[in-house]
Amino acid sequence: MPKIRCKCGEVLRFGDIPCDIEYKFISDVEYDQYQGQIDAEELYLKMKSFLECKICGRLWFFWNGFENPPKEYELK
Ligand SMILES: [Zn+2]
Repeated sequence: MPKIRCKCGEVLRFGDIPCDIEYKFISDVEYDQYQGQIDAEELYLKMKSFLECKICGRLWFFWNGFENPPKEYELK
């Protein structure tokens, strides 16, 4: 199962479907290209993901797909 280790030590696993720490998002510009009925699978493939660490609250954004390292966002 794919996983990353958060800076706090928590291991974030994201192979579950559905995954309870994974959130999907799409830019407003990309979403603007859709109108009317939307194919859920097609939209799903366009969305990117971030993971939320339930321990420390860090967010790990996969801006460039799961094959590239995520970018860390830390609460201050
Ligand atoms: Zn953490």
